[in-house]
Amino acid sequence: MYPKKCAECGGDVRVSSSPIPFEIRGETIEVSGLEHGLCSQCGEVYLSLDATETLQREAVRILKQSKGLLSPDEIKELRRSLGLSQAGFEELLGVGPKTVVRWEKGTVFQGATADRLMRLLRVMPSLAGILAGESLYKPAATCAPKPIRQQLSRGWHVRQVQPRHLKVVTNDNAVAA
Ligand SMILES: [Zn+2]
Repeated sequence: MYPKKCAECGGDVRVSSSPIPFEIRGETIEVSGLEHGLCSQCGEVYLSLDATETLQREAVRILKQSKGLLSPDEIKELRRSLGLSQAGFEELLGVGPKTVVRWEKGTVFQGATADRLMRLLRVMPSLAGILAGESLYKPAATCAPKPIRQQLSRGWHVRQVQPRHLKVVTNDNAVAA
């Protein structure tokens, strides 16, 4: 049910199934086949609560498809294959609570980074163990500075100092100038 008169301009509102433009992440997606009330004068769209949800889900699905992101079903399948709950998968990926819930529901879509991480997990499920383990979060072992190749003639000593492009050279045989 839609109002008979448009709240914006007072024009007649008619039932329509024409494509509805929907803006999502700065892009306008046209969703077709969804019944709505349409103002014949100003084009204002009136939607039921159910249709609003469908519109959002459809727009996300269309945009996802165009961006080549994993679909809600593919995400769910991956998560289940890893034996994780939605909360467990959120923790593993380092995303906020309810994020995976929304991805799987199709109301929100993942960014490119999360998508690639999930694709990595799909081809290499053992990465889940590494992600969940502690070794990944320990500071990287500090590397000993590499010795500078001895290119100088006998008697010269080279010492590396910070910043890297600075070298101190001394010579045993140097005579004070
Ligand atoms: Zn109107």
